[in-house]
Amino acid sequence: MDARKTPVMAQHAAAKQAYPDAVLFFRLGDFYEMFGDDAVLSARLLDLTLTSRNKGKPDEIPMAGVPHHAAHGYIAKLLELGHKVAICEQMADPSKVKGIVPREVVRVITPGLVTDADQLDGSSNNWLASVDLGPCAVGVALLDLSTGELLAAEVPNLAAVLSEIARALPREVLLGASSAGAETQGSLADAEAALRAAQCRAALRTDAELADDDVAAALAGLADSAEALAVPARRAAARVLRFAAACNPSKELPVRRIGRWDPAGVLVLDSVAQAHLELVTSNSGSRAATLLGVIDATQTPMGARLLRRRLLAPLTSVERIRRRLDQVELFVVHSRVRQELAPRFAEVGDLERLSVRAALGEATPRDLGALRDGLSAAARALAVLYAIDDADLRETLGLSKGGIDAVSDLAFELERALAPRPPVQPREGGVFRKGFDLELDECDELRRAGAERMVELEARLKQETGIGTLKVRYTRVFGWYVEVSRGQAERAPESWRRKQTVASGERYTTPDLDDLAFKIEHAEERHRERELSLLRELVARAGQASERIRALAARLARWDVALGLADVAHRYDYCRPSVDTSDVVHIEDGRHPVVERLAAAGRFVPNDVDLDLNGERLWLVTGPNMAGKSTFLRQVALSVILSQMGSYVPARAARIGLVDRVLSRVGASDNLARGESTFMVEMRETAEILRSASRRSLVILDEIGRGTSTFDGLAIAWAVAEYLDEAIGCRALFATHYHELTTLADASAHAANHSVSARELEQDVVFLHRLVKGASSRSYGIAVAKLAGLPESVLARARAVLQSLEAGQDVSERKTPKRKTAPDARADSQLDLFAPAVSTSKAERDVLTTLREVDVNRLTPLESLELLARLKQRL
Ligand code: ADP
Repeated sequence: MDARKTPVMAQHAAAKQAYPDAVLFFRLGDFYEMFGDDAVLSARLLDLTLTSRNKGKPDEIPMAGVPHHAAHGYIAKLLELGHKVAICEQMADPSKVKGIVPREVVRVITPGLVTDADQLDGSSNNWLASVDLGPCAVGVALLDLSTGELLAAEVPNLAAVLSEIARALPREVLLGASSAGAETQGSLADAEAALRAAQCRAALRTDAELADDDVAAALAGLADSAEALAVPARRAAARVLRFAAACNPSKELPVRRIGRWDPAGVLVLDSVAQAHLELVTSNSGSRAATLLGVIDATQTPMGARLLRRRLLAPLTSVERIRRRLDQVELFVVHSRVRQELAPRFAEVGDLERLSVRAALGEATPRDLGALRDGLSAAARALAVLYAIDDADLRETLGLSKGGIDAVSDLAFELERALAPRPPVQPREGGVFRKGFDLELDECDELRRAGAERMVELEARLKQETGIGTLKVRYTRVFGWYVEVSRGQAERAPESWRRKQTVASGERYTTPDLDDLAFKIEHAEERHRERELSLLRELVARAGQASERIRALAARLARWDVALGLADVAHRYDYCRPSVDTSDVVHIEDGRHPVVERLAAAGRFVPNDVDLDLNGERLWLVTGPNMAGKSTFLRQVALSVILSQMGSYVPARAARIGLVDRVLSRVGASDNLARGESTFMVEMRETAEILRSASRRSLVILDEIGRGTSTFDGLAIAWAVAEYLDEAIGCRALFATHYHELTTLADASAHAANHSVSARELEQDVVFLHRLVKGASSRSYGIAVAKLAGLPESVLARARAVLQSLEAGQDVSERKTPKRKTAPDARADSQLDLFAPAVSTSKAERDVLTTLREVDVNRLTPLESLELLARLKQRL
């Protein structure tokens, strides 16, 4: 011990040494204090007053503190900012120990290890991820301590890790490597850089290498589920468990098995597609504008979390998809069951997280009350299901194989023990029902009787002394006392001892009062101790049932998801898709689930799509701006995702031949906020699509090439479309305003032109939002420009220029007098880009020859960019 340090500060130093990278919340009486650098940091981040301890002495140290009952909010803020917080508690009642109170770090909270309901979003998981770079594969694990779930899997490379991370959106990621992994799978620094580049907002921590013994020890309690895993997955699972255990010393983690997680069995949706399709977050930030927002009619937090996970991980197994669809269909058909069940589910609450808090010993009396109410609501929901007189239906819901454990023994105990509305903090009393525990009732009786006796004593003292203003009162600091107003003080009997003088009078104690006070306090204390011990027992009892409660919660979550999807399907007229291994994406009268909800009722125009790997698989969609191209593209992708997650779709009929990936890229101007060169972003994302698409992928490309000059843009769009058509040969939708591209369809057996129609009425454009076969004949650009409010003189000139261009005349022959500038000469050369060459210079002829000879299929996107740049330079 540092000789200069007081014993308390020595305790602090020891705790800090054990958890150097955490902000240490050090309990001193009613406060958590922070010292030294922690104090300086917290004062700044939490807006606390910075003071110092032992001011002016050699061991002066900065200090800042927060009241213990308000610590919640401050801790949440620090976690939000990515910090770790260590909680050092007093391990005994200071009034009962001689000398210094023992103190211990009972818990370290990190962003990925939050279990407090106030700090969690009920509708999403709070994952702590770990990534373990191995010699030939990467292990990934996800732990949600608040639900007790642990998942682990092996993926082939860093790119696959990124797509798993994009799906799970963990709050915190632990990065580790086994030394052999560094060469083949890249270094930790690579992994970290890749995560940052993928805009992963998690707190990143690099973690030490794990010895084989450590891995075995960490997984010891998980038996079979760990055995079945590949080595990197085992290491990753061990890593999150070790981290969580180290942060929760003296607690048993509520994790009993490693859940099934098969990254190869799901449809891949990278973060770019997720963002472009606005699956769970929207550009506007509004949840109502996301796909999740419009399909989430779940009633329980478990259901909401499951729905979100399913949406981001649609399946690729026809059989599993059909099983999910069967459940939805069942609730669609049995609308009575749906209506009876929904209100029961709404009362269930977060059984999963409540049971985990019980298992961690963190459940408050209010949590136990919520658990009791949730279990009884679950029992009522089960009763509704069991009452259904339909064997098929019970089979589909998995109700036919034996009874379902409703954990009714615990429900009964909680019911018997707890008061109707238990308080948050046990100290407030009133946790248990009267009649539940004799001893508790007895103490309660004494404490109440004591209070009555005080009232009697007050009356007697008044009478004996004749002091009318005499009062018997209590404060926490002074305990019980008699107060007499100043004027009456001289009438106080000799036997009273003066305790304190206050503005309003004098305070005394008397032997009678002391005697009674002792009895009351004793009863008070016995009551508190008995209540706490009963509470601990009950929490432990609930904790023991945690596994069973979670099994029940998992079933409820699945039914809740099916019920919610059925509700949406019924209310918004969705149909059951037929999902199979065929080669088509066929949707009749499809709608965009979000846009249709935001549009005025009945105003959304449905459209068909019919892609076939062996027939027309690439649709080129043209049409003026604002006609609805993007909406159409996205609605197709969304219906595929919905189908494969096991949901009905907004359409009259749909047949989906399994898709392994949905890849999406939307025009540069939609991403201006990104700050990077938009063209670079666009090309990088396009390159990624061309690299990762397979024949079974669905690719939607919206206005690519828009981020550069018309010439380059058209050329790139052309090359990309061709590559999709010929080299990849997947189902794809390609929206473009380059009409020239439509000639591509003539040359390809698999490409077809479609356009979103518009009609011009007296120079105004009316969007019909209706997709028709064939290329759009006109771009209506001028009509759109009119809509946008361009001055009439400019519009008139534009019409004239357009006419000349269409007639092949020289535009510079001005039809309207006044200013003397011709439109960009490129305007007409652009039209001729792919017409037979009438080149003049040698450079131009060379360029054309190169273009003819180049095999686009063999060029990487980057090479094609370079080639383009070279060609331009020649010209
Ligand atoms: P584009 O991609 O052709 O520029 P968008 O798809 O962005 O056009 O559509 C522009 C707007 O038109 C959308 O915001 C939407 O309000 C409306 N819209 C698009 N498609 C439809 C449709 N099928 N029915 C009704 N309104 C539509």
